[in-house]
Amino acid sequence: MNHMVLDTIIRGGTLITPGGPVIADLGIAGEQIGAVGLGLAGARVIDATGKLVLPGAVDPHVHLQMPAGPVQSSDDWETGTLAAACGGTTTVIDFVEPGPNPPTPFPAREGGEVLPSPRRGGAGGEVSDSANHLLAALAARRAEAEGRAVIDYGLHMTLIDAGPATLAAIPAVVAAGCPSFKTYLTYAGFKLTDDAFLSALEAVAAAGGLALVHAENDAGIAFLKRRLLAAGRVEPRYHPRSRPAGTEAEAVERALALADVAGCPLYVVHVSTGRGADAVARARARGQAAYGETCPQYLLLTEKEYDRAGFEGAKFVCSPPLRTGHDNAALWRHLSSGDLQTVGADHCPFFFRGQKDLGQSAGPFPSFDRIPGGMPGIEARLALLYTYGVRPGRLTLERWVEVCCAAPARVFGLYPRKGALVPGADADVVIFDPAREVTLAPATLHENCDYTPYDGFRLRGYPVLTLLRGRVIAQDGEFVGPRGGGRFLHRSEVCS
Ligand code: MN
Ligand code: MN
Repeated sequence: MNHMVLDTIIRGGTLITPGGPVIADLGIAGEQIGAVGLGLAGARVIDATGKLVLPGAVDPHVHLQMPAGPVQSSDDWETGTLAAACGGTTTVIDFVEPGPNPPTPFPAREGGEVLPSPRRGGAGGEVSDSANHLLAALAARRAEAEGRAVIDYGLHMTLIDAGPATLAAIPAVVAAGCPSFKTYLTYAGFKLTDDAFLSALEAVAAAGGLALVHAENDAGIAFLKRRLLAAGRVEPRYHPRSRPAGTEAEAVERALALADVAGCPLYVVHVSTGRGADAVARARARGQAAYGETCPQYLLLTEKEYDRAGFEGAKFVCSPPLRTGHDNAALWRHLSSGDLQTVGADHCPFFFRGQKDLGQSAGPFPSFDRIPGGMPGIEARLALLYTYGVRPGRLTLERWVEVCCAAPARVFGLYPRKGALVPGADADVVIFDPAREVTLAPATLHENCDYTPYDGFRLRGYPVLTLLRGRVIAQDGEFVGPRGGGRFLHRSEVCS
């Protein structure tokens, strides 16, 4: 290391380190960070005076080109990762959704609900490795991203059943670089019973993996949905009434209790309520290996959005739904205190025209349970958390970087290669101008969607330069990197 040649110096910026902000130079050698210190010299100098310098953000929860019934989430691997890069995110972790094994007809749908559709085993329905249907689905998903993603990416494996073939396939999935496994406690075609969930947790733990869970009480939701629809309450504003806070609180509590029984580390995705976050905090206080994620939409938006005129409320239909201002405040407190560890986007965009309004021919409005669920958010996550987290004093600078960059990397086995500004780490770096003003709108974002849930939000603080492995890929809100420059991240060890 004594004679390392530094080819790029990011000079004079305020580095956000785990211990706090430090003014220093960052030296890049090839694809990695070579040195951190004062007075570094190199061939190319990027002046970062007055700017914040942080590790490229890591988004642990995105859904690019995800099939959902007759439609597909509107960002593909290229458009979605390009938008992420412009917003300072250099790593995403998406999902593999294998089809049932053995293959069965299209999953049953209750009341025509638009659900994510499990992918078939391989591209075009072919199973390339019949011995392991999960590995075949992983290969197919990697093939979609290869040559298209412009930032680095990992994949979580989804477990839609806990049959013998699936459980036996898990160790090979871990060995193939995917040691994190997504489970669902609701959604036809995905929902695991408590028995199946326990079997899955046991197998994931035995393979040294980490389980993720979408925790909502399926029976409670089905019960309320039936009542609402029978009463003709079909407009988007009834969506949150079909999934009240108690349905999340019960399922988070139960998932954590069962993970404790099975001895499996558990990561609860998209915690939307104060009650859900309280449950994660209690499990952690007991010493359980439990992690909680929330999302910008649950910190910044409320269920009032569903009361918008006409069909506009459909733009905000996601599950779990937006909650109350009290929940927003509770989630900020838990994020600040460390009871919640990460912020993921849960980016799952659908066009308002042509996708969200699907099924409109069925009546004046499609019923809320036919609206494809999900919202865009891959691009502005880091900047939203700065303007609404750091500026009002809810998060310190280092906590902001922790929840958006370091913790997602650490939990999912990418740290310190990702999420840290230390020698030897990948030179994924964001230069963030705390004075830069941006008003969010579809025109200022690169997401492939005709709306943003944050339309009109005035941000102060925005990324001005994004580097992926030493190369500038986004500058002043435009992508300038090579097409298809992202790499699959083979992960071996998760936090447990
Ligand atoms: Mn979910
Ligand atoms: Mn999701």
